[in-house]
Amino acid sequence: MPLQEHNYWLTTAQFPAAHASHPLPEIVDVAVIGAGFTGLSAARTLAKRGAKVALLESETIGWGASSRNGGMVLTGLKLGVNKLISMYGRELTQRMYAASLATIDCVEQIIRDEAIDCDFSRCGHLEVACKQRHFDDYARQAEVIAREFHHTLRVVPKNELSAEIGSNIYYGGMVDEVSSGLNPARYVAGLARAARKAGAEIFEHTRVERIERDFRQGGAGWRISTSRGALWAHEVFVGTSGYTGRATPALQKKLIPIGSFIITTEILPEKLALELSPRNRMIYDSKNYLYYYRLTPDRRMLFGGRAAFFPETDQTVRQSAAILRRGMIDVYPQLSDAKIDYVWGGTLDFAFDIMPHAGQLDGMYYAVGYAGHGVAMATYQGQKIAELMAGDKVENPFVGIKFPGAPLGLYSGNPWFLPLAGAWYKFLDWVT
Ligand SMILES: Cc1cc2nc3c(=O)[nH]c(=O)nc-3n(C[C@H](O)[C@H](O)[C@H](O)COP(=O)(O)OP(=O)(O)OC[C@H]3O[C@@H](n4cnc5c(N)ncnc54)[C@H](O)[C@@H]3O)c2cc1C
Repeated sequence: MPLQEHNYWLTTAQFPAAHASHPLPEIVDVAVIGAGFTGLSAARTLAKRGAKVALLESETIGWGASSRNGGMVLTGLKLGVNKLISMYGRELTQRMYAASLATIDCVEQIIRDEAIDCDFSRCGHLEVACKQRHFDDYARQAEVIAREFHHTLRVVPKNELSAEIGSNIYYGGMVDEVSSGLNPARYVAGLARAARKAGAEIFEHTRVERIERDFRQGGAGWRISTSRGALWAHEVFVGTSGYTGRATPALQKKLIPIGSFIITTEILPEKLALELSPRNRMIYDSKNYLYYYRLTPDRRMLFGGRAAFFPETDQTVRQSAAILRRGMIDVYPQLSDAKIDYVWGGTLDFAFDIMPHAGQLDGMYYAVGYAGHGVAMATYQGQKIAELMAGDKVENPFVGIKFPGAPLGLYSGNPWFLPLAGAWYKFLDWVT
């Protein structure tokens, strides 16, 4: 099969039929923007509470990062625990870490309740150390996490690593058995079915262009202008992640869209697949400019990374195929003859402090900033913010933390500095 510039996961999933000509309602309780994990999880929760929900998606269900990712359902946050403690103190960090563990249960519960067939498995994740210094730090991290958060991580020394991974380039690893894997396209399609079943209406090919305060319908609310006409909503929830645009300028200025790219090989022989990943873990390395990889349920090696920092275009996707293949063979020389069947890219969102953020901005609810940890956190934040909107008293340690913009306010949403950021992260990988 020749290399296809296409998302492999989409070949495995069936999405609910679109209601393209369905007219927009005039008035709803909540307009949710973006049909990814965040928006769909929020729409499902709100509709279950009896709210009239219109979910507005400029493309199609799951079109954004939610169908394009590695399917790694990960514990923890992008920042390490010591950094978190230095930023937020012990008590808030404990609550954040507990929430990161709860995100996995949240995904599992939804999959079970909605009978979503998406190959969810508690297979655990393996982080591998690219330098001795990184490995030495694993023992310290595991000790802090056990002491402060009562959560067990297992440090794997180099001489035992072959039980976890068929590569000898690493200095050791660290396993978290709680993390999981799934097929993201099937999961997001299942979430959409669940949101619809709960009563939410999903409008595809409906780009939100402008959102304005409007008091005309007998109360405070919003007039939302879309590519298919306007509607009025009491509340707005924004779940647009790395694709956040001009319709929500205040949020756009706080987010950096960053490209991430993935290749998958042809289907591998069973024996080779078992050698590469004997425990079928979700694997990522310890670099800033990291690689993440796993076997797919049909035994392809899926290998991803920030091969280009800019969001996906035909050019960055094509370049990424070659860069990622070289990276994959560095890790697994056994794959030097394996054919690459698929390459694709997607955009994720980083806040300037690399933290998830949720709450209200300019009167609109939002949840964003997952920094590559969004499969579990986006599902969780969608649900939690929806519960908050429904009036529940909700434990959510990411609401109300400082949400910084660019230093000196020097950013309008056009990430001109990405090549510099890419070079900077490569430099950090070299020196740290
Ligand atoms: C290649 C790649 C690999 C990744 N791997 C992992 C992984 O293994 N594990 C992990 O935890 N995370 C991973 N992530 C991150 C994860 O996929 C995201 O954090 C998560 O999917 C975000 O979900 P979301 O619903 O917030 O946003 P998205 O799924 O990006 O959805 C946002 C939606 O908003 C829509 N939208 C934007 N503007 C408008 C508008 N004006 N009007 C209407 N609709 C609009 C877009 O069309 C889009 O569909 C990865 C991301 C990428 C790109």
